[in-house]
Amino acid sequence: MDLRWGEETDPDTLLKRCGVDWGVDCRSLGAKPDMPTLRGVRGEVIRVHSEEIRLHRPVRLIHPRYPIYIAPKPEGVFVIGATELESEDDDPATVRSALELLSAAHSLNPAFGEARILEIAANPRPALPDNLLRVEQAGAGLLRINGLYRHGFMIAPAVVENALGMLDALRKDAASLAPGAVIAN
Ligand SMILES: Cc1cc2nc3c(=O)[nH]c(=O)nc-3n(C[C@H](O)[C@H](O)[C@H](O)COP(=O)(O)OP(=O)(O)OC[C@H]3O[C@@H](n4cnc5c(N)ncnc54)[C@H](O)[C@@H]3O)c2cc1C
Repeated sequence: MDLRWGEETDPDTLLKRCGVDWGVDCRSLGAKPDMPTLRGVRGEVIRVHSEEIRLHRPVRLIHPRYPIYIAPKPEGVFVIGATELESEDDDPATVRSALELLSAAHSLNPAFGEARILEIAANPRPALPDNLLRVEQAGAGLLRINGLYRHGFMIAPAVVENALGMLDALRKDAASLAPGAVIAN
């Protein structure tokens, strides 16, 4: 298989270049020209380190303004996330968001006051109007997976399994679905 990194492409070019029967478009916000209702929902997340704090499972704060979670990772690392803003801005995190995330962590356990900040990251998440993901046939020989929103890491294995099952069915009976049909969401 020919692997290329750091190269922009589009499904038509890729299918022609690779000469494959089926391709999968997972461009996230890069697919906006073909999915006009796709939007970015900006998220900011902070990683900190502390040897003092012990959490055995992720903690979610039930708070009207800050739906924030703190996830423990190996070796004293904690992920504090994530903000949610209707924006495709991928610039560095704002002071306001950093304050919100760190204040929430500090109010949960004041020992976070002594934790060391390892990273503050920001990125837009791909979301559709109903915030549900879509696996759909997007043309001849093309499956499209998009709209993973806040859950892409968590549901990726199930999405791939689902998409492979769909591909298998389509390869056996290419006429079973019209282009544009939603296969799963
Ligand atoms: C701060 C933050 C915290 C998050 N926390 C969690 C979490 O705890 N759990 C969870 O499940 N999910 C989380 N998510 C959501 C998760 O990151 C997304 O759901 C997931 O990344 C979406 O996966 P994707 O592959 O569809 O898109 P992406 O991860 O955006 O990948 C798309 C890829 O396509 C590439 N691309 C785009 N256009 C082109 C082109 N024309 N040619 C070639 N390549 C192209 C991009 O460069 C990118 O590498 C979080 C997101 C953010 C921002």
